[in-house]
Amino acid sequence: LFGYVGIESVLDQMRRKAVKTGFEFNIMVVGQSGLGKSTLVNTLFKSKVSRKSCSPSFEEGISKTVNLQSVSHVIEEKGVKMKLTVIDTPGFGDQINNLNCWEPIMKYINEQYEKYLKEEININRKRKIPDTRVHCCIYFVPPTGHCLRPLDLEFMKRLGKVVSVVPVIAKSDTLTLDERQRFKERIRQDLWTNGIKVYPQKEYDEDTEDRILNDKIREKIPFAVVGTDKEHQVNGKNVLGRKTKWGVIEVENVAHCEFANLRDLLIRSHLQDLKDVTHNIHYETYRVRRLNESNL
Ligand code: GDP
Ligand code: MG
Repeated sequence: LFGYVGIESVLDQMRRKAVKTGFEFNIMVVGQSGLGKSTLVNTLFKSKVSRKSCSPSFEEGISKTVNLQSVSHVIEEKGVKMKLTVIDTPGFGDQINNLNCWEPIMKYINEQYEKYLKEEININRKRKIPDTRVHCCIYFVPPTGHCLRPLDLEFMKRLGKVVSVVPVIAKSDTLTLDERQRFKERIRQDLWTNGIKVYPQKEYDEDTEDRILNDKIREKIPFAVVGTDKEHQVNGKNVLGRKTKWGVIEVENVAHCEFANLRDLLIRSHLQDLKDVTHNIHYETYRVRRLNESNL
């Protein structure tokens, strides 16, 4: 069954260990208010990732988010536990003057690095340091159909330096498929001309296999998403969707929108990579900077 040395059994050991310890994954949603951030958080928890494994009791209706607030659910699949936390942020852009509106968000991200660092340099450090670092930041672009606004550019430029940013087009049901496609191309171009780095970054592709897989994702970014907290009947089945006068937009149907692509990227295909990039690149940058200041 095993080869001579038995290296395959290492995979088994790693799996067993992962099963025992479980893992944490933290996502943050950022963007102007009213773009459907809180709704998308609910969609994520209600969608197929977690529907079977937990039955959260949501208060019906989503009220205006006024503080940074995190929601966690433990999702269990085949004995492996994942603690998925989503940090919901109040929208910015409500004020006429949006100067420095990214500050509370940058502050939160850096505070989590600081907490981790403090634990790491402790003499009696814990065997497993609680990980509250933001592994991924979903940035909501308003569905204007034109181009990225200076505020979006500035925000993403700053975020991109400290965290993995995944931009999405919010409420994309308000755009036609044609408009979506053109807007996506325009956004990619704007990101590129402004030197904004979004996830997954080319520099971190480790081999050809990574490159091929990630190129496919890069072609699709930003995902045009639709969120909902309601289910509707479609052909006798309950699906997460939004009812419009043309019918129900099925949120998890890839022919209708790209919510499922986003979810799969985050939770199915790139979860470990997002954690690695956070630890090896973003946290490392923070750590080196702090240790150089060395007033810990
Ligand atoms: P937040 O301020 O970004 O957290 O936005 P909310 O999640 O509170 O949503 C604001 C409003 O937009 C609510 O009335 C939602 O029902 C609605 N909404 C949320 N997601 C979508 C979407 O994908 N499409 C459309 N058309 N409306 C949405
Ligand atoms: Mg909100």
